[in-house]
Amino acid sequence: MTNSYSDAILYSSINSHKADILVIDDTPENLHLLANMLTERSYKVRSVTKGMTGLRGAQAAPPDLILLDVNMPQMNGYEVCQHLKADDRTCEIPVIFISALGDVLDKVKAFQVGGVDYITKPFQVEEVFARIETHLTLRRLQKQLQTQNEQLQQEIRERQQAEEKFKKIFLASPNPITITTLSENRFVEVNPGFLQMSGYTRADIIGRTPNELELGIAQDVYDKAIQQLQNVSLVHNQEFEFRTKTGDCKTVLLSIELIDFGDVPCALNIINDITERKRLENEFISLVSHELRTPMNSLIGALDLLSTGQLGSLTDKGKQILEIATTNTERLIRLVNDILDLERMKSGKITMRKTNCNIGQLMIQATEVMQSMAESAKIQLDVQPYSTDVWADPDRILQTLTNLLSNAIKFSEPGQTVWMTAKRTMLLLNSSENLSSVEQPDCLLIEVTDRGRGIPADKLQSIFERFQQVDASDSRKKGGTGLGLAICRNIIEQHGGQIWVESTLGQGSTFYVSLPLQSSLPT
Ligand code: ADP
Repeated sequence: MTNSYSDAILYSSINSHKADILVIDDTPENLHLLANMLTERSYKVRSVTKGMTGLRGAQAAPPDLILLDVNMPQMNGYEVCQHLKADDRTCEIPVIFISALGDVLDKVKAFQVGGVDYITKPFQVEEVFARIETHLTLRRLQKQLQTQNEQLQQEIRERQQAEEKFKKIFLASPNPITITTLSENRFVEVNPGFLQMSGYTRADIIGRTPNELELGIAQDVYDKAIQQLQNVSLVHNQEFEFRTKTGDCKTVLLSIELIDFGDVPCALNIINDITERKRLENEFISLVSHELRTPMNSLIGALDLLSTGQLGSLTDKGKQILEIATTNTERLIRLVNDILDLERMKSGKITMRKTNCNIGQLMIQATEVMQSMAESAKIQLDVQPYSTDVWADPDRILQTLTNLLSNAIKFSEPGQTVWMTAKRTMLLLNSSENLSSVEQPDCLLIEVTDRGRGIPADKLQSIFERFQQVDASDSRKKGGTGLGLAICRNIIEQHGGQIWVESTLGQGSTFYVSLPLQSSLPT
């Protein structure tokens, strides 16, 4: 006997007082004997002397089990059993035949008409109970199985419906969608939207990897996104470059979710092609910026002329307003210049003019540029220059360092210190994303550290995107444009390096810039 079976017997005997048993026997003495025996063991007993009455009773209120005499006048036990089995309401009730002393019990017939067992007189009390309990338990297990089976069927139906819906959405979605294996990043399914965007046929794609197809998707960035999925359920709208079959370059936003596809762990990649939107956006931005630059420069000239007093002297209030106008106009010019700068860098119109330059000197130069801003903000600059040559565009590296120092000063409190250090290192830790370390042989690591307000964890990456600020009021209050870090990232990436930040809210931030040393030198 298996454990679950013996558990079921135990369970059924604990609950046996609840079992409802119908006894059908035309001999009153037998009926009494059985009814008393069963009632003593806490069964609920109904007893009738006629086959027909028993049948009606069973149909009206189906019992858990029936004890049925074989020999009865009018309708004998076999006939009663046949009727019970022919009726949906009673067909599942276990029937045990009783045969009196001297009766001839046709055992084969008893089973043929649907009986589950038989007992013969004289009754062995314990044997009777054992048989009753066994069949009650079997019945209960059968019911459990039926319920579980129905639940399973229901789950299967719901799953099929969900799969059907998923399939429809997958096929009809205007968004390109792919399913790739997690282990090897191979395509297992793609939708028509993806075929249309990529220009490939299904046969070209299934079983291949994006690398094999040269789709231009940065493998390391994609791998990082997949690693992130271990902690978060969805990676949302990550920007990637995408190359079509004809070699066209597109910009896409990728959202990734983990799914099981035929029991294989896979990534569901939903793509949003933003190439056209980006192009229009960039065109618009550069057009507006160009149009704004000329009038703003003449505005600043006019304001400058006013401030010299050559056009008459101003009242104190007038001077104050002029100063506000000048500050705001300068900020607008900065914004327009930054936009144009970034746009030109991204479109490759600005190339880095790399030479062999000393990083220590650039660090000192950056500190000198920022000294007056630091003094007005009552911030101390502590710079430890590290003298080594890098193959880089000195103006652009200076721009990056001054921007990082300017941010560190802006977001620190008066009286605090901002540090800039550098070192040569063999190992670059990408700890801002909690990812495994990336080996970079021989690189220069510059660190700009402050003890200012810090950056929330969910903004550590987005602040390197254009117009992304921790607080929407930062540009107004701190005079920034939200473009500085996007420009820095672009510059550093064009040098084959990386830029990232580690920060604790309320305690300060460290911005890291890594620049390759050996590989950056010209061959
Ligand atoms: P901005 O011109 O606004 O400074 P950046 O791109 O340089 O633009 O920076 C983007 C945003 O990142 C800032 O507006 C600020 O919210 C946040 N940030 C940058 N540096 C720091 C820092 N050292 N401490 C705290 N927040 C910072």
